[in-house]
Order: sequence, then structure tokens, then C-alpha cells
Amino acid sequence: MTSPVLRMSKLYAPTLKESPNDAEIASHKLLLRAGMMRKTASGVYTFLPLGYKVLAKVESIVREEMDAIGAQEIMMPALQPAELWHESGRWNDYGPELMRLSDRHDHDFCLGPTHEELITSLVRNELRSYKQLPLSLYQIQVKFRDEIRPRFGLLRSREFIMKDAYSFHATQESLQETYDDMSRAYGNICERCGLDYRPVEADSGQIGGKVTTEFMALAPAGEAELVHCSCGYAANTEAGECICHPTLYKNDGLEKIATPGIHTIEELAEFLGIPESSTVKALSGKNDEGKLIVMFVPGDHELNEIKAARAAGGFELLTDDEMEGYGLHKGSMGPVGLPEGAHVIADRSLESVPAWVVGANEEGYHYVGAAIGRDFTVDEWADLSVVKPGDSCPVCGLPLQGARGIEVSQVFQLGTKYSESMGATFMDEDGKEKPFIMGCYGVGVSRTVAAIVEQHSDDAGIAWPMSVAPAHVCVIPLALNGDVLPVAEKIAAQLADLGFEVVIDDRKERPGVKFADADLIGWPVQVIIGQRGLDNGTIEVKLRRTGDKRDVPMATFVEMMSFARRQAKASKAGYGTFDILFDR
Ligand code: ATP
Ligand code: MG
Repeated sequence: MTSPVLRMSKLYAPTLKESPNDAEIASHKLLLRAGMMRKTASGVYTFLPLGYKVLAKVESIVREEMDAIGAQEIMMPALQPAELWHESGRWNDYGPELMRLSDRHDHDFCLGPTHEELITSLVRNELRSYKQLPLSLYQIQVKFRDEIRPRFGLLRSREFIMKDAYSFHATQESLQETYDDMSRAYGNICERCGLDYRPVEADSGQIGGKVTTEFMALAPAGEAELVHCSCGYAANTEAGECICHPTLYKNDGLEKIATPGIHTIEELAEFLGIPESSTVKALSGKNDEGKLIVMFVPGDHELNEIKAARAAGGFELLTDDEMEGYGLHKGSMGPVGLPEGAHVIADRSLESVPAWVVGANEEGYHYVGAAIGRDFTVDEWADLSVVKPGDSCPVCGLPLQGARGIEVSQVFQLGTKYSESMGATFMDEDGKEKPFIMGCYGVGVSRTVAAIVEQHSDDAGIAWPMSVAPAHVCVIPLALNGDVLPVAEKIAAQLADLGFEVVIDDRKERPGVKFADADLIGWPVQVIIGQRGLDNGTIEVKLRRTGDKRDVPMATFVEMMSFARRQAKASKAGYGTFDILFDR
């Protein structure tokens, strides 16, 4: 279908020369500057025509990928009754991020941050038989989360667009199949949006469940820290297994050393002239039952709170007063001479270090050569440390690399968490009533738009991948008199006939202004038409992504674009960079 040629003279795309003060990262600045969106309130944005076109394209890609794996689109309300959230227990558990309100009859509601409760209540009385399973339903809808720090524009907003899908199964195998389909679809979505991404091992956090993968767009502005390996392994450092290599300093007897004023690992390592990996860090806390737990990790690593809580059955750090009560000293804690009943859990990497450099449980003193078994005992060994670059890949053993990422989407195996708490059951083959086994799958559609800009922009502005650009080609007449405008109009119309989405910059502006706006907005292809070129029978074509420019004979231009279009259509994902224009 031919779309009408857009006219810059009519388009509501108010570009800005300067970035607004509160915008810190490229996507936030450029989406505002390019006239794609405007801030309405903190973490709340209006999409202007060009930004909305991009959002709609990302939505279409998501929709195509969901439909392709047999998920069915529905539309649930954003407004959700509190009763459903009481049933699942999340009215209390979700905390202040949940936007709560009440109606004129004093009935409580929330604005949905996610829709597990709603969808479970939707199907629980009507999806009755194993014969109807599996079933996957999805929607593309606005979500609300009263984030503590809304920031970075669309990356962390309080109102945002999410595609959320939910699947219902009779068996774990069936869930696994859909989970794998969804994971593949999520990879396709990232690829078709032009994102450099990694699927990473993740922690399941709030939602619960056992198996989950996050899809991370690699970008320095990302809030997530990742490790990844050339073998393909990648993990969020919140969740990744840590295989590290602490080093032995000395093992020739227990030696108490005066370390006056030394409280940090850095100070201790410097004082002794040894690497931090030869020291051991201690942390004291209590578990959910109030039992004293002391944890040890290699000095050059941090304790992972999620792993700590899992290993100890909850782990809350002791306050200074509590430590004093136990006779423990911050900065000189160690495993020798701990209070009666303290439960010691140490990072399993330390099992290979026979004698430790560690606090002496006495202000201003440390031990060197504290030997496992002889001087102290460890009750449990566990993976406790936050993985970091340089640690070993759990799959192939090579050193891991570090990166930052933007979580654009996530898939979860929920199991029966919601179906059990909300009584959603079906009749299985054996005639027994069973809770659904569920999965849930979310794509941050508006966050994806920001992630694309983070990866596809430069000092001059955005460089949209063809697949999500607000239009494919911008025709720029350098003058509005003589032949220039009529030729530009004709070319714009021809390109539109070929199936390109075309915009013409027919504004009464200087060429410099038009070029700057075209680069800022980020049209993938610019076709520049000026009198001098016309006199020579050529027009100039510029690719935004590479900045490459070429004079093309008028006579072959349309044929060349037609060829590029066919090539792009034939490419795997149905889009291309149009570099092909320059390869001939
Ligand atoms: P985060 O850890 O970044 O807060 P989340 O893990 O809580 O995100 P999910 O519940 O997994 O988010 O939601 C699915 C998707 O929705 C996320 O992968 C992300 O792309 C998007 N999303 C979540 N919170 C926001 C937000 N505040 N602004 C924009 N997009 C968001
Ligand atoms: Mg998530």
C-alpha cells in the first residue's frame, strides 16, 4: 500500500536546538530534541506524531512475532479492582510502586503495573479442560508503576507501554515449549528492531517462579550490569553464578597482626602489600528466624544479597548496635572466635584457600594464616558472591567480560504461583482438578524505542534502523524555486509508489537547517536535490547511518531505489540498512 508523502511544512515535529536540562542520556535528549515526545509530568510522556510512528512500528513487530507463535491478542483494562490483588497477596507485597486509587463508592483499585491477577481471574471459570490447553494471550497496553526514581525518559517512566503475554498449560513440558517459542520471538523482536542484545540469566524477583531470561540491549546507559562470554553465555550480575579464584597469601601458622585504623579491604590489602583477592571479607546479618549468620566472600568480591538471602533463609545486615551486642567489630570481623551459635556460610571459592587473611574479631587486629578446620569451621559453602568481569565463565571457563545493558524484555516460568493463590484450575486428562501451570512474558515497547536510540545515534541525532524509522526516505529540495521543488515532488511521489514511506522537506528554510533536522530526526536515507545537481543530471543520496554520500544519475535513481527496496524486502527480517544502495 502506498502511504501519502509527509510534508515537513505541515508535520508537527517541533525540533529543539538545545537539550532540556533534566535529560542526561542520548535517547532522552534526542527524542525530545527531534520533536518525537514531550514530558507531561515526571516519568509521563506524550508521543508526538513522529515518535508515535516509531512506537507503532515497534508494536507491529511485536504483534507479528506474537501472532506468528499463535498467541492471541486481547485488551484488558488498565484499571484493576483491588480484590484481585488481595487474592494473590500482592496488594500488600507490591509496595509503593503500585498506583492505587478509589472510586466514588470507596472501592479500591490500582492502575495495572502488570496483569497476572487480571488474566488469571479472566480464565479461571471458563478455561476448563486440558483439551483447551496450551493457551497464550497477549496485549499491548499502558502500564503504571510509581517508580521511586523515574528517569532517563522512556527507559524508566511511570506510565509506559508494555506487551504482556500469559500462557496456560497442563504440563511443565508444554510450558517449556511455549517459553522457548517466546524466547525465540523475543530474540527476533530485538533483531528486527536493530538491537545488539544478549539473552541473559536473570533473577526472577517480584514475579516469582524458577526460570527466567532477560533480553538486554547492550548500552553504556543501561542500568543493568552484565557479564558475557564469547561462547554465548551471558548473565545479569544480580543472578549470574560466580566462579572466582581467591589467592593464598600465607599458610604457616595463625598470626595476629595489629592493623590500627584499618577497616576496609582496600586498606588491609595495601597495608599488607597483598592483592585484595588474598583477603576475606566478612558480613554479619540475621535470617528470617532471627538467627545470627556470618558470611564470607573473597575480598575482591561483593556479597550478592539475593544469593545470601537464598542461602540463609533471609539475610538482613546487622545494625551497628546489633553488632556491638554480639561483640562484633565492623572492619575486623572474622571466623575465629565468633559468638556461640553463629552460623557460618562462606563462598565456595574460599574452600580452595586453606588459610585466610581475615578480621580477628578484635578492633584493630587481623589474622594472617587462619586455617580452615584448625582455627575455625565453616558450616556451609555456597555461591554467595556477585560475579564480575574476569571471573570464569560457568559454561566454558574463559574469563568473563563486563557490559551494561537495558532490559528490554523478560520471559518467566511462573509455575502455579497465581493459579494456586487465585484458585484457577482445569480438569486434566486423568479427571483431576489441577492448577494451571503458567508463564508470563513482557516486552517494554516504549523502553525498546529508547534502547534503539541509545544504540543508533551520534552527536548529530538519531539514525533509525529502516525497520522502525518514522519514514524511510526524506527528500530535501535545496530551493523552492525553479525546477528543484517540482523534481523533488516527482521523486517523492515515485518513491512512495515503490512502497517507501517518504517525507519531503518543503519548508522555507535554509539548506543547513534542513540538513540538521534531517540528521537529528534520523531519516535513514536522505535524497538531496539542488539546482547544481540537476544541471549535471544528478541527485545526492546520503545514508544517515554511515554518513556515506553519493551523486546518482537522475536516470537510474528510481531504478536503484527499486532494487534496494526489493533487496530489503527479501532480507530475513524484511528490512535492510540500504547499504546496498552503495554496494553497486
Ligand atoms: P526493571 O528491573 O527495569 O524495573 P522489571 O524487571 O521490573 O524492570 P518487568 O516486570 O519484567 O520489569 O516488565 C517487563 C518489561 O517492561 C521490562 O523488561 C521493561 O522493558 C519494561 N519496563 C518495566 N518497568 C519499566 C519502566 N518503569 N519504564 C519503562 N519500561 C519498563
Ligand atoms: Mg524484568
